[in-house]
Amino acid sequence: MKVPLLDLKPQLETLRPQLLEALTRVLDSTGYILGPEVAHLETRIAAYCGTAHAVGLSSGTDALLAALMALDIGPGDRVLTTPYSFFATMGVVLRTGALPVFVDIEADSFNMDASQAAEALAADRKQGGTIKAILPVHLYGQCADMPKLTALAAEYGIPLIEDAAQAIGAECPFPQADGSVVWKRSGSMGLAGCFSFFPSKNLGGVGDGGMLTTPDAQYAETVRSVRNHGAETRYYHKRVGGNFRLDALQAAVLTVKLDFLDTWHKKRAANAAQYRKLFAEAGLVDNPVRLPKEVWAQVEGAESHCHHSYNQFVIRVRNRAERDALRQFLLDHEIGCAIYYPLCLHQQECLPEAVRGAHLPLAEAAADTSLALPIFPELQPEQLVFVVETVQKFYQER
Ligand SMILES: *Cc1c(COP(=O)(O)O)cnc(C)c1O
Repeated sequence: MKVPLLDLKPQLETLRPQLLEALTRVLDSTGYILGPEVAHLETRIAAYCGTAHAVGLSSGTDALLAALMALDIGPGDRVLTTPYSFFATMGVVLRTGALPVFVDIEADSFNMDASQAAEALAADRKQGGTIKAILPVHLYGQCADMPKLTALAAEYGIPLIEDAAQAIGAECPFPQADGSVVWKRSGSMGLAGCFSFFPSKNLGGVGDGGMLTTPDAQYAETVRSVRNHGAETRYYHKRVGGNFRLDALQAAVLTVKLDFLDTWHKKRAANAAQYRKLFAEAGLVDNPVRLPKEVWAQVEGAESHCHHSYNQFVIRVRNRAERDALRQFLLDHEIGCAIYYPLCLHQQECLPEAVRGAHLPLAEAAADTSLALPIFPELQPEQLVFVVETVQKFYQER
């Protein structure tokens, strides 16, 4: 039995008539750059995320870059972020001329450790305060510790930008003074939320695309100008921007798909629950296989919220050699799997020497021991069974 890591075909087949209709509509309109399709998707995404404004951008990377450029972050500035993410999170910081400051991740969640973020900010403040933004990532579809991180941003008076590329629709609980809990969606917790519509994300286009959400009208306008070479009036440039525009064709496709997003989230969550059951029945849980922790699942009311959007289902094993062997074993049995990410950001060769030296043991351990298994919505029950049986077989043969 073949089990791909991701198969986009079933989604395409179900939506083919609607997608073709949308694509034809844009094609016939001859309005290919921005225009009503992009504006419509912006309105829909803002409503979905619970923010006042949304700006369509050419990719998740460009959303992050535009977010920083609109804040005039540049040489001499630093951005506090996580060492365990896709390269774009750090790449955009370096492209502005600023430097990243890394703190380690939490032991269980793969996300930035908020207590270490607090220490880094306190230390930076004593040295004059060069940290100009906090950039947490909601890795694999689960929100970072946003109640703590947004409190830090407020305390230090610096903006927080969410890298929500993997986490559209993911929700995070904020405890209130009266004991109740308010759940907020990714992209609605800081100054800006940055989303990617890369085809492998939960809401994927038929090419590249991205979006920035924000509660701030002024900031939204600045991002709109950054998206268009820094011009508010055509040919008059107040700042230097780029061509970071979302295509009308992508916007039309994404508008069709947005209606199905919550259903797909539920299917991903059901697949995750099924994996948990099967791994437990196989007697593999905790040792040798650690399943991804659902950090927010314990909070009251979590069942009715998307506390993990499962863009990836990432297990951990005991060491790098075992992980690499398991990966090969699964691939040999035609099961797709992948390592996100084999090398931490603070270890990347492109980094200036000064930032590269850090030792961040939990991030490094995650890079050594994690493996992503298939979790896409249309996976069949027998495919999930086959994945777990094959993992079990791997350990039986060892
Ligand atoms: C996918 C991704 C990005 C970049 O998005 P693109 O649309 O591919 O440019 C940024 N950050 C994270 C965490 C991602 O997973």
